[in-house]
Amino acid sequence: MPSAPYDVIVSGAGPAGSTCAFFLAKAGRSVLLLDRATFPRDKICADNKSWICTDLVKEMGLWNAFQRLPKQEIHAMLFSTPGGHQLRVPLETAKIKRHGPHYDVRRKLFDHMLFKAAKKQRTVRTMEGFSVQGVIREGRRVVGVKGTDGRGNLESFFAAVVVGADGSQSPVARTAGLEPVVPERHASNARAYFKGVVHDAYTVELHYLAGVNPGYFWIFPVDGGVCNVGVGLPTAHVRKNRLDPKKMLLELTNLPQFKGRFAKARRISDIGVWGVTVGSSKKKAVSGEGFVLVGDAANAAVTFAGEGCGPAMRSGKIAAESIDAALRAGDVSARSLHRYDAALWRVIGPENKAMGSLEFLIKNPPLFDFAVKRSAKNPKLAELASKIASDYRHAAQLWEPGTILSMLLG
Ligand SMILES: Cc1cc2nc3c(=O)[nH]c(=O)nc-3n(C[C@H](O)[C@H](O)[C@H](O)COP(=O)(O)OP(=O)(O)OC[C@H]3O[C@@H](n4cnc5c(N)ncnc54)[C@H](O)[C@@H]3O)c2cc1C
Repeated sequence: MPSAPYDVIVSGAGPAGSTCAFFLAKAGRSVLLLDRATFPRDKICADNKSWICTDLVKEMGLWNAFQRLPKQEIHAMLFSTPGGHQLRVPLETAKIKRHGPHYDVRRKLFDHMLFKAAKKQRTVRTMEGFSVQGVIREGRRVVGVKGTDGRGNLESFFAAVVVGADGSQSPVARTAGLEPVVPERHASNARAYFKGVVHDAYTVELHYLAGVNPGYFWIFPVDGGVCNVGVGLPTAHVRKNRLDPKKMLLELTNLPQFKGRFAKARRISDIGVWGVTVGSSKKKAVSGEGFVLVGDAANAAVTFAGEGCGPAMRSGKIAAESIDAALRAGDVSARSLHRYDAALWRVIGPENKAMGSLEFLIKNPPLFDFAVKRSAKNPKLAELASKIASDYRHAAQLWEPGTILSMLLG
């Protein structure tokens, strides 16, 4: 393995990149952490943070910093179906006792906290305002990245391993030959902040409305009475029907069931748009000769649910452990780095496979209507909904004979 100025270059300092750099530094590795933005920066998101996220925040010793951020505790999810049925799903009480609630925290604040934690590490050098164009190869092996600094100067950096943490359009993934966008798993989203929406502060709302389903309209309370309001749709559906998510977002707030709740509301931000490719039940390569991909660059967001912040951090940590092991073995070949693919899939494979069952249900409106209607009256089904909201792997129980029987018998 030829020597390089850094052990690892991490392209992108969002949740995946900052977490990866943090854990690499804890293992004593020298890291160059690059981002085209200057922190604090916003990211179009619904701002929800589950236990996948908060457990890692605690492990990184950032719980006190997290507690100081303005945020909203979340204890339940409210779902509505294309047929207008509603189900309020509380998170499991035992899990709340053990882990605390979920939270909604603005990404501008949360990502800055993670970035500062990575930057504080003695062996991490950060460069903001540096836009990575792509990887540099020596033969087949990735040996560095090139890009432009804030003044437009072209620069190259070299390391033993390059981490693509540069989001859903990842230039590292693309130039390394692993296309990050999977059209059939890609969602287009629009989001804005509103003040004055009538809402329950402890509940996130996901409305699978006719014309939007299998995407949804969301109302997520953040801090100070502000709500993060948005719509997410499969990109194929947007293209086929020539939809404009920005326009749609405003139209949805005017639907009869929401009009009253938005009557005194004021939009306090622009409407931002962003896309994400969520994971799937099919395993995908996320590393190669001299490089690995994490977070959205690796489609690490939980399939269908679209939760990506905690999963991005989780993939960053797993990647850091695999890279450290590869460096210790003096072998950063594709074969050696593939241990990361295996370690990541052991965690996300069961979640994605289980969530495929929920996706099937939601994509079939009459079935979805029926299941939600039944669950609103049947404690056993309501309990399963609560378990799924608390741990995606429980979605595998949706098609078990006992569940189907409960649904049929009402
Ligand atoms: C509308 C929407 C709502 C969502 N809601 C939720 C939610 O409520 N909860 C949740 O957990 N997840 C949610 N997600 C998913 C979540 O936002 C992502 O999965 C998460 O941000 C992934 O983190 P990441 O670090 O991989 O990528 P990012 O957060 O996108 O970070 C990538 C970083 O790379 C940098 N970068 C990009 N290109 C370059 C370049 N060329 N050179 C250098 N740097 C570069 C960017 O500036 C950025 O800082 C949502 C996604 C969308 C689109």
